[in-house]
Amino acid sequence: RTVYVNGDYLPEDEAKISVFDRGFLMADAVYEVTSVLDGKLIDFDGHAVRLERSLRELDMAAPCSKDELLEIHRKLVAENGIVEGLVYLQVTRGSDGDRDFLFPAPETKPGIVLFTQNKPNLADSPASKKGAKIISIEDIRWGRRDIKTTQLLYPSMGKMMAKKAGCDDAWMVEDGYVTEGTSNNAYFIKNGTIVTRPLSTDILHGITRKAVLRLAEEAQMKIEERLFTVDEAKEADEAFTTSASAFVMPVVEIDGVQLGDGTPGPIAKRLREIYLDESRKTAV
Ligand code: PMP
Repeated sequence: RTVYVNGDYLPEDEAKISVFDRGFLMADAVYEVTSVLDGKLIDFDGHAVRLERSLRELDMAAPCSKDELLEIHRKLVAENGIVEGLVYLQVTRGSDGDRDFLFPAPETKPGIVLFTQNKPNLADSPASKKGAKIISIEDIRWGRRDIKTTQLLYPSMGKMMAKKAGCDDAWMVEDGYVTEGTSNNAYFIKNGTIVTRPLSTDILHGITRKAVLRLAEEAQMKIEERLFTVDEAKEADEAFTTSASAFVMPVVEIDGVQLGDGTPGPIAKRLREIYLDESRKTAV
């Protein structure tokens, strides 16, 4: 695989990062994951805008312009022959050659890394046909989940807890209400109404969430953005999650309670189709 590191395109085993890089030492880094369908990028603009926002919120310098970012994405996709897959992008605060809690001088160069992941069955994924089994866990993450940082230890632990329980993923709960999935936004559907938590600093402002809610509205579906409990979701007709890497993923079980007949629900399936169609049409 060819990867991109701080200005260079290199074979993955020749790419190097400083041991003092704050992304490595302190998770002082933000990231984006953009999916690729038909060799093209899905909602590149949405991801670029959110990246700018994450950087701004953390007082971090942008490593390059949006146009340059698009060019790097495209070059890696082409070079690695990605037809379906993902592009991972990470920007770190870099380092001034030592470990220190205080930020390095503002002129310190940010670090930037991109790599591709080949996923031939991203759209036609077996997991989406089966639907996901979810456990609920407490949300013990920090309070700025709207910033897409690389602090992913707890989400990783959540996925491990799900795996140990024979499930696929976890939804996190704070003060009795579902915040989001470990790497996705969470929804349930009752009597035709789609319910999801409103945007705040408590959850990541999903790029897929925005697109799916817009498409649902255009399809005359009813949407309620409000807090909801796991119990409410367990009594739902359907549930699903959204993310750039799994699109719309139907949920068929929550904490051992089967939803509907235990297979992906009709609205979730339809939203997945609409989202994939629209994404392919608008891909760059
Ligand atoms: N919430 C969290 C915690 C996530 O990690 C992700 C995926 N990055 C999402 C939501 C979904 O966001 P997006 O649709 O932009 O991938």
